[in-house]
Amino acid sequence: MEALSHKHHWNWNQTVGLHRVMTDLGRVMSSGRLHPIVLLEGLEGIGKRHLAMWMSAQMTCLQLQERLPCGNCANCRGVMGGFHPDVAVLNPESETIKTADVETLQEHFMMMSSEGLRIGVIMNADRMTIEASNRLLKTLEEPPEQVRVILTSSRPLLIPATVLGRCLRWRVKPPEKELVTDWFKSLLHQSGRAAIDDDSVNHWVLRLRHSPGLLKRELDDSTDHYSGISGDVAQLLAAQNPVDVTRSAANLARVHKAKVPDILSAVEWELNKIYRARLKSCSMAFGNLSENGRRAAQRRLLHDIRMQAVLGKVTLNAQLVAESIGLSEWRRD
Ligand SMILES: [Zn+2]
Repeated sequence: MEALSHKHHWNWNQTVGLHRVMTDLGRVMSSGRLHPIVLLEGLEGIGKRHLAMWMSAQMTCLQLQERLPCGNCANCRGVMGGFHPDVAVLNPESETIKTADVETLQEHFMMMSSEGLRIGVIMNADRMTIEASNRLLKTLEEPPEQVRVILTSSRPLLIPATVLGRCLRWRVKPPEKELVTDWFKSLLHQSGRAAIDDDSVNHWVLRLRHSPGLLKRELDDSTDHYSGISGDVAQLLAAQNPVDVTRSAANLARVHKAKVPDILSAVEWELNKIYRARLKSCSMAFGNLSENGRRAAQRRLLHDIRMQAVLGKVTLNAQLVAESIGLSEWRRD
């Protein structure tokens, strides 16, 4: 059965914002009062999958540290690497989880545990067919003593009430806005998109409801998208004669089957990148000038930048430009 696998790609770096829920869960789990069947529910991309594997590690860890799995012992490594014999993960590639998948999981539950517990994780439990849900109910109604079931879902209302009624529903909240914003900024920095301004970052974070996974996916998608068109955009901006970027963007949009606003974003991104590079080289040159000479050079540079932006009809990241050349000094003139 391909859907049933012991494999899981564990990445400690994707734990943004999970610290709180891990502490809460760790407290309940180590008290021994955790219900044997837990449904982790919450928005897509906030780490429910990661949390389910973390819980499996907590249940099997040989040397818990302040109630949390150590991440180093043979069992933690087994869960993290996807080869712990007592932990099975039903992680469907397909749109539905079928009866046969659930039956395979039930066979896993029937086998003797090597240590103590038999753990089954069902990702995207809302994908179970009605028949599969009914089959699973047989386990949920009378779970064997050593069995633990962890389900995850971002659409729990699609799970039959009979199944929901057997679960402890644990609501996983998205991380705090500030935390996600900081994390996303560092991600942008790593991916060479540091020129994106704070307003845009806030807009992304709010639109994707603080979900790190959704933000990461959006960034990956747009990076792929941009890398395809940035070459053409750079060429456009390097043209000797002033060009109407808006008109050219329409052409590029046709060529790349993209939307015009996307092309214009790429233009802005590329333009800001060019400015950054120029400002860097200029500010090194400024260092050798007298105070007056430096101001004159900065003024010329700002003028050039404005001209290029106006001719191109491009919205500049004005704050970035101003900060980079120390505009505060200018206001006194
Ligand atoms: Zn451990």
